[in-house]
Amino acid sequence: MLSQCLRARQILVSKMNEQTLKETTQLMQMVGRDIFLAHLISSHGGNISVRVGDELCITRTGSMLGRLSDTDIVVVPVEGPSECDCEASSELIVHRALYQATNAGAVVHTHSPQTIFRSMLEDSIEPIDSEARLFIPCVNVVQSKKTVGSAEAAQLLAAELSREDAAPLAVLRGHGPFSTGATLLEAYRWVSVLECSCEQLNMRDMMGKPLKDYLG
Ligand SMILES: [Zn+2]
Repeated sequence: MLSQCLRARQILVSKMNEQTLKETTQLMQMVGRDIFLAHLISSHGGNISVRVGDELCITRTGSMLGRLSDTDIVVVPVEGPSECDCEASSELIVHRALYQATNAGAVVHTHSPQTIFRSMLEDSIEPIDSEARLFIPCVNVVQSKKTVGSAEAAQLLAAELSREDAAPLAVLRGHGPFSTGATLLEAYRWVSVLECSCEQLNMRDMMGKPLKDYLG
């Protein structure tokens, strides 16, 4: 009931067109479900957002990406702060920093297990498979003392993703990737591609055998 009230108030204070909010919510529900089914998060982990003009739709704090309801989408200004900030994901600070530093239309953050493991071995991840080598040949890892809702992490990730020639995603060591894209599907794509690559890198290390060079 509280969430319903908050949502009603949110629509009143937001400039967002109701049809746009409805369509964005449906897209976030679809991609959130895909992220969960792809094993990129635990039951309540991760967060996603979409920019609409000078506002952003972001998942509610504690929400389940695999089963997002309409009331799990919170609308806040990109510049912030707002009275709805406390309802938003605890990573709102990172999402805002990425929108302010880049021209991203969407941000995805997951707790991809193979990627997190790799981030504890490397300072930069260099995939060995052809799909990732084509799109994200080098993904950097950043580290901050506080790893959740961290101003330091927000600053490091924004600096990393706004670099010229930077990959569209970076990994916060021990926590997971933050990805940007023109669309939500694109941002989701990069965390998915990286997770597949990290699985191969981790398998290679476990095998302990040299791999055949296929690059010629
Ligand atoms: Zn997280």
